[in-house]
Amino acid sequence: SKSGDFLLAVEGLTVSFDGFKAVDDLSFYLDPKEIRVIIGPNGAGKTTVLDLICGKTKATSGSIKFDGKELTKLKEHQIVHSGVGRKFQTPSVFEDLTVFENLEVSYPKGHSVMGALGFKRDAEVISAVEEVAETIFLTEALNEPAASLSHGQKQWLEIGMLLIQKPDLLMLDEPVAGMSVTERKKTAELLRVITRDHTVLVIEHDMQFVGDIADRVTVMHQGKVLSEGSIEHVKSDPKVIEVYLGH
Ligand code: ADP
Repeated sequence: SKSGDFLLAVEGLTVSFDGFKAVDDLSFYLDPKEIRVIIGPNGAGKTTVLDLICGKTKATSGSIKFDGKELTKLKEHQIVHSGVGRKFQTPSVFEDLTVFENLEVSYPKGHSVMGALGFKRDAEVISAVEEVAETIFLTEALNEPAASLSHGQKQWLEIGMLLIQKPDLLMLDEPVAGMSVTERKKTAELLRVITRDHTVLVIEHDMQFVGDIADRVTVMHQGKVLSEGSIEHVKSDPKVIEVYLGH
């Protein structure tokens, strides 16, 4: 095993659904603070990999070592607690709450809910909310209800709701789906800021965006790693070209 130096080491990961291996003996390794993008045709197993890491789906075999801990033995909430945050494709923010309140209720302390209920706000919570709001370009919208935000701003808010929990690993499923060109550029900027303190694992189809953000790319096909490396490397890999042209 070479899991020692990595933030995340996935080794021999396999999951079968009724005998069909959606993820098949998969291994990959994330360095601390890297942005890795998983690409691959529909059905390649990308979403299932994120489901396995966050404990939503249980592995049939293999291991997922995160910061030295074996995640395959943990429950979903324990995985969140150990520092893994997951954002799904569809933004799920509290529409009736303001941006401030959405961030506040996500702050990992029981008393943060008190503010949203009208009690005195904790200075620590306020400063955490303001810092995250700045990072996700929503300082001006702090007192607006989430319902009034654009689709892209809701995606950023949801990223902020994860960031305020200070996860070491942030997993994002198609973060720029439905975004305008300007919003995509700002999201790339946002991810670069985020990786000063966090490791990021992204599933993405938009190759322009992948080129903008990825340190390394892992190409999946039929549950396995087809190719891995820089965007230039995987784009010129004959195995990758064949799979993409074949679709
Ligand atoms: P991708 O995200 O790359 O499009 P998925 O991880 O969603 O691929 O799916 C990989 C394969 O596993 C697909 O063939 C899908 O139908 C199958 N699959 C995913 N989840 C389940 C499940 N819970 N039960 C049965 N089959 C599943």
